Amino acid sequence: MQEEEFRRLTEGLKKGERLSLSKAITLIETRSPDLFVFRDRLLEFAVKRERQDTFRLAVTGVPGAGKSTLINQLGMHWISKGHKVAVLAVDPSSEVSHGSVLGDKTRMADLAKEENAFIRPSPTRLHLGGVASTTFETILLCEAAGYDRILVETVGVGQSELEVSGLTDGCLLLLVAGAGDELQAVKRGVMEAADFILINKADGDNLERARTAARELKQVSDLWALRPGGNRTEVWYASSLGKAGSDGWFSALDEFHAFIRQSGFFSSNRNEQEKKWFRRVLLNHLQDLLSRQESISAFFAELERKKEDGSGIFELLSELQARVKIQIGNGI
Ligand code: GDP
Repeated sequence: MQEEEFRRLTEGLKKGERLSLSKAITLIETRSPDLFVFRDRLLEFAVKRERQDTFRLAVTGVPGAGKSTLINQLGMHWISKGHKVAVLAVDPSSEVSHGSVLGDKTRMADLAKEENAFIRPSPTRLHLGGVASTTFETILLCEAAGYDRILVETVGVGQSELEVSGLTDGCLLLLVAGAGDELQAVKRGVMEAADFILINKADGDNLERARTAARELKQVSDLWALRPGGNRTEVWYASSLGKAGSDGWFSALDEFHAFIRQSGFFSSNRNEQEKKWFRRVLLNHLQDLLSRQESISAFFAELERKKEDGSGIFELLSELQARVKIQIGNGI
């Protein structure tokens, strides 16, 4: 990459060009050391352009719960209100499945045709540092390109979505009543980490079951502790098949956004998230620097050799620690 190309990239981002945004995200994900300088400059650019009027929402639920249908519907609603919508997918299973179904544009047919929507499928490989490793950067880039409604889609009912909800302003969990014991199967901790629980597919034969499940869950959730933003987990039932009935929880989302902005949680939470992110960036940089030191790579080779006969590993590790200390003392 040359200076001129980088300049075009940031100009394109300022104009909100989707192609530039795609290229910028690819640059953020680079593992090529030659590009690290540009990657870091791009991040600086994105941080400087950060906006405070955006809304980042995690959307989670098991496969088949209706996430993409719902995102399509919510995204179209937001676009009709003048917003620009970005959909990012984080798929913790993609390393195993090699290619993911999340963020697949065919699953969000209306949004995919919209000028004001940007859909980024899940990267095919996971990066060092867990599921969320470049998601935060990607969110910043989308906002730098003028997207003010960011949906982060994630699959499953476990650790990964808790991690993802640590990158967003709020979290929406999708459940389906009547799909076996799904409600029981979802860990309480995951439910309590949601700002919204939506019992989906509340239509046809399922409507009554969804209503009952929502009522029961509401009674339980009223006993949970308040969310860190001071709000209570809300329980709604909805169907993504027709537009009818969605307006209620659409407005509830807007009210939640307004509430956390007014209470101050929005900015304190974002500051906290940004601090954690800086820390992670710094540690990644240190790791990069260290792993490029010849003496350290020689160490790894020796560690491998020692591992074979099973002796002396711990002595070697403490020697490594000591050396790293010296390296840092000398300025790495
Ligand atoms: P995802 O895997 O969580 O993204 O789920 P999808 O959005 O792909 O939906 C899975 C299936 O459920 C599809 O066949 C959808 O048409 C269907 N579906 C999604 N939302 C609803 C809904 O509100 N009601 C009904 N009856 N079906 C739905």
